[in-house]
Amino acid sequence: MTKKESGIIFDKVAIIGIGLIGSSIAKAIKKTQISNNISGYAKTHKTRQKVRELGYIDCVENDLVSAIKDADLIILCVPVGSNREILQEISSSLKKGSILTDVGSVKAEVIHQISDLIPHGVSFIPGHPIAGTEFSGPESGFAELLEDKWCILTPYGDFDKNSLNKVKSFWERIGMLVDIMEAEQHDLILAITSHIPHLIAYNIVGTATDLEKVTKKQVTQYAAGGFRDFTRIASSDPIMWRDVFLNNKEAVLEMLGRFMEDLTDLQKAIRWKDGKKLEELFTKTRKIRQGIIKEEKERSSK
Ligand code: NAP
Repeated sequence: MTKKESGIIFDKVAIIGIGLIGSSIAKAIKKTQISNNISGYAKTHKTRQKVRELGYIDCVENDLVSAIKDADLIILCVPVGSNREILQEISSSLKKGSILTDVGSVKAEVIHQISDLIPHGVSFIPGHPIAGTEFSGPESGFAELLEDKWCILTPYGDFDKNSLNKVKSFWERIGMLVDIMEAEQHDLILAITSHIPHLIAYNIVGTATDLEKVTKKQVTQYAAGGFRDFTRIASSDPIMWRDVFLNNKEAVLEMLGRFMEDLTDLQKAIRWKDGKKLEELFTKTRKIRQGIIKEEKERSSK
């Protein structure tokens, strides 16, 4: 549902961290021409070299302050545990009137970590484009990753409405659907829809490869559809996901508590051969899947 508007929204955009999400955003900006100039900062020489070779960022800098110089929009695209150290370095060099945003999968803790470092005259509008793959790094991004997906913005406190609208337009112009909510609500929703599914995947793959009576070779050799899907999810970037769990601790633990209660119910149903209970749940979940597919089809046909 890409809006058919045109024109520049931000003269210069700085992308800090050029992995899956940073490179996808850069490519989407190029595709939609919503900025004249993209600068980028990558931590390692290897990533900077790769990004220069690929050419989707106009100017790749070795240092943070040069990357954000004169930028109107600065987007933090690094693992959420790294945001504060970056802000400490760039805070005093942010241009007056500029907008800072981020793409972190956790929102309340990111706000907590960096809000005291936002200088007067700069707006911070936290965000999370809910789009991803199991791949990471500067070669993995593509503009279409972000199209027709949701982006959640979580403005807080006495935020500037103009800045919120500009950030909203930015994501909409690159093809995203934008929703606005409280950071805590975002974190609870994402805990159950994304963070716990990843935890389950990491755990099941770990358990399966740690069994005594089944060899590792048997696990990989006979990996059927379900387990293969789990291994795909469990191959996601270790640092990014470490930071997600450490920074969304409360919401993940709350949802994990609910999940484990329901899992114990299922365990009981299997033990007591309660087929009705299993069938009821599996029928309900099949309908949920069908509903999701239907909604996606309706959205993309609009
Ligand atoms: P990624 O592909 O692993 O890229 C992360 C980038 O951050 C890398 O380019 C890395 O630089 C850089 N970086 C790491 N630590 C840094 C530091 N201390 N200072 C500066 N740069 C640093 O990760 P990603 O998937 O793009 O994730 C980035 C952010 O997007 C995370 O906050 C994540 O929560 C969020 N997010 C991810 C997804 C997803 O599915 N992957 C979806 C939505 C949002 P080097 O390459 O130089 O090491």
